[in-house]
Amino acid sequence: MRCMERSILHLDMDAFYASVEVRDNPALRGLAVIVGGHPTRGVVLTCTYEARKFGVRSAMSMVEARKRAPHALVVPPRGEAYAEASRIVFETMRSVTPLVEGLSLDEAFLDVTASRAIFGEAKAIALHLKKRIREATSGLTASVGIAPSKFVAKVASELGKPDGLTVCPPGLEAAFLAPLGIERIWGVGPKTAELLRDAGLHTIGDIQRAPRPALVDLMGANGAEHIARLAVGDDPREVEPGREAKSVGSESTFDADRVGAEPLREPILRHCEEVARRLRADGLRANALVLKVKRGDHSLITRRSVATVPLIEAGSLYALALELLERIPLEGVRTRLVGVSATALEPIEPVQRELFSNDERLERPRAIAAVLDAIESRFGRNTIRRAGG
Ligand SMILES: [Mg+2]
Repeated sequence: MRCMERSILHLDMDAFYASVEVRDNPALRGLAVIVGGHPTRGVVLTCTYEARKFGVRSAMSMVEARKRAPHALVVPPRGEAYAEASRIVFETMRSVTPLVEGLSLDEAFLDVTASRAIFGEAKAIALHLKKRIREATSGLTASVGIAPSKFVAKVASELGKPDGLTVCPPGLEAAFLAPLGIERIWGVGPKTAELLRDAGLHTIGDIQRAPRPALVDLMGANGAEHIARLAVGDDPREVEPGREAKSVGSESTFDADRVGAEPLREPILRHCEEVARRLRADGLRANALVLKVKRGDHSLITRRSVATVPLIEAGSLYALALELLERIPLEGVRTRLVGVSATALEPIEPVQRELFSNDERLERPRAIAAVLDAIESRFGRNTIRRAGG
């Protein structure tokens, strides 16, 4: 009994950071280009489709990426250029509906159910968005999926990449999903996929046909319920426009002004720990950090840096904050307030988590972060603290 079928769009820019680089430097067109950080410590932020052919993926360590594509050109990230393009993309999306839920700088869900009365069917809205975005960003392309639910819309947009438009009509979700691999199901990472494959379940259609008790045996009651519902496209989640956090910050004003940079290190570490705790709680990673210092005369100095590794735990936030602190002349200067905020936030999706866990360098801080979380939840916050820098 579906009275008003929802029209959910998932819009995702194609190889976003890399596409911006190619747009701004046409000499890169047609080449394997990686936007990434430090050659030994950084990770791949995005790469062109030419680099993907060699197995390079987002969030892969630069060491691994250079092994797979030694000929690829590595370009350092230009956060401001991506933020500007992102602003245009979101402005365009918000011109067709206020119901836009940003998932990252270049990806969002839109509920255009009510917009159909004004702008025509969902497919016409999607075509309009793709065209408008291409014009307003001087050539960047987006892929769009249309479906009655978030999950199916996201799968649809992935299928059409790049520059795609894929529609799953209402009522046909199960048939649309059936031939696809189980790893397309939200929350099914490599480990779960292996477990399911070992049981002979390879496609989403296999999940649809599997007897429920068999799924419960494999994944427990909750897991089986989750996977069986998604397998037929049953995902009632609403598009939540206010959901995306712009930044996560922590700051403090001192009882008495502090002189010079040295006495600011301890409070900065404390703020980084607080920010990291909130990022973990919200399942987010940050791609940029802002350090804020208010001097005794109330003048404000901020320094911002785009990270070359995803910022997840206090150690990496603190290292970057100290680099920014060094860029502020504070010799003999009185300071009354110091603050740290993490911006350019992105959700850490289950698939991405598993990718990260293959990266030893990231695994260690995450393990530490998990232990800190466990201890904090048992003994309350501020029980333990990393030794100051
Ligand atoms: Mg994208």
